[in-house]
Amino acid sequence: MKKRKRVGFMLLMSCLMVALAACGTAEKGSTDAKPRSSLEAIKKEKTIVFGVKNDTRLFGLKNPSTGDIEGFDIDIAKAIAKEMLGEKAKVEFKEVTSKTRIPLLQKGDIHAIVATMTITDERKKEVNFSDVYFEAGQSLLVKKGSDIQSIDDIKKGTKVLAVKGSTSAQNIREKAPAASVLEFENYQEAFTALKSNQGQVLTTDNAILFGMADEDSSYEVVGGTFTDEPYGIAVKKGDQELTEAMNKALKALKENGEYDNIYKKWINES
Ligand code: GLU
Repeated sequence: MKKRKRVGFMLLMSCLMVALAACGTAEKGSTDAKPRSSLEAIKKEKTIVFGVKNDTRLFGLKNPSTGDIEGFDIDIAKAIAKEMLGEKAKVEFKEVTSKTRIPLLQKGDIHAIVATMTITDERKKEVNFSDVYFEAGQSLLVKKGSDIQSIDDIKKGTKVLAVKGSTSAQNIREKAPAASVLEFENYQEAFTALKSNQGQVLTTDNAILFGMADEDSSYEVVGGTFTDEPYGIAVKKGDQELTEAMNKALKALKENGEYDNIYKKWINES
């Protein structure tokens, strides 16, 4: 009788232990499985996937001989990743255009956009922005010797080239309503169109246009700037945690001199 009791007790104990172990794995499973936020996922993978331009000299341009993407935005993205995740940080770059960047962010293909993107109230309805990390302004690029030297010279019949999904395409319609605006998929296409005389003037941010004038000295930037284009890093709408992490990293880069180094490397202020 005593022996049967002891066997019963042992059985009960082993059942309890199995149950406890199962419970433990389930709990462990739930913390391991899905990270609760994008910042948690980024920290776990030690990787940030950035949407960047591939065709914009000085900001994000693919070097055909190495396959690397190079520019101010690229270095800012790398420095932010290092600041947030340490030396072992990995970055992945996916190409975006002005038109595709918000949809790709919303689809979850990228964690953040660092792609010459102006902070606007309209866009704030769709994404969260970091603090400003670069100040640009819209301007004009023309062939040297052109009659067009400022926005006032854009008259009825002037063909202005711009890029789909950019603030530049919207602004020019407001500032020079008589112009006819032709929109292209990206800046490479728009510049090629200018070179093949499909229009007399190309409009976007001065910083981007300086890159084009650098590439081909028969073109020049004219007329100063007629808008403010403060660039921000965009993350998913409502992702406060990641926005704050980006801001913290940006602040640190400004304080430790890294931001200034990147600025001097790419932006010629003369
Ligand atoms: N900064 C402007 C914009 O966000 C023009 C440059 C671009 O198309 O990315 O639309």
